[in-house]
Amino acid sequence: MPNYDFGCKQCNYEFEVKMSLKEKEENPNPKCPQCGGTDTKQVFKTMQFNKSSSKTPPACPNAVGRQCGSCPAANFH
Ligand SMILES: [Zn+2]
Repeated sequence: MPNYDFGCKQCNYEFEVKMSLKEKEENPNPKCPQCGGTDTKQVFKTMQFNKSSSKTPPACPNAVGRQCGSCPAANFH
């Protein structure tokens, strides 16, 4: 079962809820364990983009429409 991160808008408490996708659909705003409020929303934490970053060459600030020839991104220009 996946874990979901939620944040409480009332007390700013962040908590993790383990539930199935079906449970999440039925109950998209779980109770805040700290204040008991239901004004919660899912928090999407920053994922690691290491895997996909290889597809996109790093931006070279010196190469605007031309080769700079001196940076790791030169091969992609
Ligand atoms: Zn709360």
